Amino acid sequence: SKVPPIILNNGVEMPQLGFGVWQVPDDEAEKAVATALEAGYRSIDTAAIYGNEEGTGKAVAAAGLPREELFVTTKLWNADQGYDATLRAFDTSLAKLGLDYVDLYLIHWPLPSKDTYVDTYKAFEKIHADGRARAIGVSNFLPEHLDRLTSETNIIPAVNQIELHPHLQQHASREKHAELGIATEAWSPLGQGKGLLEVPAIIAIAQKHGRTPAQVVLRWHVQLGNVVIPKSVTPSRIKENIDVYGFELDPEDLGAISALNEDRRLGPDPATFDVV
Ligand code: NAD
Repeated sequence: SKVPPIILNNGVEMPQLGFGVWQVPDDEAEKAVATALEAGYRSIDTAAIYGNEEGTGKAVAAAGLPREELFVTTKLWNADQGYDATLRAFDTSLAKLGLDYVDLYLIHWPLPSKDTYVDTYKAFEKIHADGRARAIGVSNFLPEHLDRLTSETNIIPAVNQIELHPHLQQHASREKHAELGIATEAWSPLGQGKGLLEVPAIIAIAQKHGRTPAQVVLRWHVQLGNVVIPKSVTPSRIKENIDVYGFELDPEDLGAISALNEDRRLGPDPATFDVV
C-alpha cells in the first residue's frame, strides 16, 4: 500500500493517512470514496451523523478490494449514547455500510453534561468482544474524560480523534495519549482548508520542497506520528493529499510550523458541546 500503517495498542494496523467524508452528501460520497480508493487510500472515516454510511459502503463494495485491505471507521452519534441505544445504533451503522464488522468504532463526542460515555463504552467493549469492531476508541475526549474512562472500563481506547492542525497543536492531549498508549488521530488536519494553507511560513516551506501547502501540513502530521484523514471531493486534491511520502520536513521546517500554534479551535469545545 501507498500509506504505511501505525500499530494500534491492540496490535491492529491502521493506515496513518485516510480519507474523511464529513459534509459529503450521501449521493456524492460514493463517487468521492471511489476516487479515493482508486488513488490508493485504504482507510475511510465516516460517522452516523454524516448521513453517508450508505454511499461509503456502496463505494467500498464496488471497489471489490479484499476486505482485510480496507480500514473503515464510523462513529456513534450523541443521541444514541447509553448501553442499549449504542448496540442498536451500531447495528444500523453496519447495515448501512453493508459490512459485517468495522475496523474502528468511535464515540463521537464525550457529552459530559449527559454523563453516559462510560456505559456507552461498555457497549463498545461488547461489540469488540463479539468481533464486530476490530478496534474501539473515542473522539473529542479531553484528558479528564480519558482518565475517567480508563479507570472505569477495561479496554484502553485505541484512538482519540481530535481537532488538530498547526493552529491547534493539542500538546496536553498528545501527552496524555502517549502516557496511556492511545493513537492521536487529527480531524480537520488541514484546518478545513481555510486560512492555514495561506500562512506565509507554510507557503515558504512548500516552495522550498516543491510541494503544496496541503502536502506540507499533512507531512507535518505524519512526522509527528498523528493519524490524518484529510477531506476533499476534488480528484486532483484527493491524489495530492495522499502523495506525502516522497519528501521530508527538516528540523527548521518543523520548528517554523510549531511556532504557528494559537490554541485556536475551529470546531466546538468538547467540554460544553451537547448537541444531540
Ligand atoms: P480538512 O482539514 O480535511 O479540510 C478539508 C477542506 O480543505 C476541503 O473541504 C477543501 O476545502 C480543503 N482542501 C482539501 N484538500 C486541499 C488541497 N490539497 N489544497 C487546498 N485545499 C484543500 O477538514 P475536515 O473535513 O473538517 O476534516 C477531515 C475529516 O475529519 C472529516 O472529513 C471527518 O472525517 C473528520 N472530522 C471529524 C470530526 C469529529 O468530531 N470527530 C469533526 C470534523 C471532521
